Amino acid sequence: DLAEANAGLIRLNKAKSQFVSAVSHELRTPLAAIKGYASLLGSGQFGHLTNAQTERVTKVEKHADALTQFINNLLDIARIESGRETMTQSLIPIEAFLTAVQDVVTPQIESKQLHYTVTHDGISTLFGDSVHLQHVFVNLLSNAIKYTPEKGTIELAFTRAGEMIHSTVRDTGCGIATSDQQHLFQEFYRANDPINQTVRGTGLGLTLVKRIVEAHHGQIGVVSEPGKGSTFTVTLPAPP
Ligand code: ADP
Repeated sequence: DLAEANAGLIRLNKAKSQFVSAVSHELRTPLAAIKGYASLLGSGQFGHLTNAQTERVTKVEKHADALTQFINNLLDIARIESGRETMTQSLIPIEAFLTAVQDVVTPQIESKQLHYTVTHDGISTLFGDSVHLQHVFVNLLSNAIKYTPEKGTIELAFTRAGEMIHSTVRDTGCGIATSDQQHLFQEFYRANDPINQTVRGTGLGLTLVKRIVEAHHGQIGVVSEPGKGSTFTVTLPAPP
């Protein structure tokens, strides 16, 4: 009975992924047009805009970007779940990798005046799909930044643990209640925390992160204490 129920769930999950993919694809094209026309209007090519008009057009662009990001996350999750997206397996020089990750998060770090440190004692390479793994660390760092007040601390560290590379993203932010921790990696889950009334998000980031880590045969976990901060750990196979 259990095997049959399981097979049914797998079929349903596959149907869900196909539906999500189809809808996301259909949404992407008109969204790109909205973004394109907003940016054309904003450029002043069709006449000068007042400050108030520029402000509104910028908002249209910003929301179109957020929606595009959301749809891309949905598509990526569906592609990885269905096995259509495979991870390349290559040696990734860690210095260049960290620079690429840092380039994305530096503006947010600076605007909140956060103290940011990176250590990777004795590790010179990671192993896997560079683009997807960058996504993992950009996402974890972006969350750490989002949920940490100004002048807090964020640490990214890589250490070797036998056949694995153990990485941690630690912050001194709001932390996560124990009752929320087990649900964080589920689609659309956002913690039941007052901060989420003001901090925008979709609850898809960590789902995608977990899918990517597992597609690398790795593991992800979290340890957190409300009010003190959170530490996300990602364990990945070390280079052969
Ligand atoms: P979101 O887009 O809401 O940030 P995620 O899937 O990235 O979606 O995260 C899910 C939820 O986990 C967030 O809504 C937030 O409540 C919580 N969370 C994630 N990272 C942190 C963190 N570093 N500190 C505190 N809460 C976090």
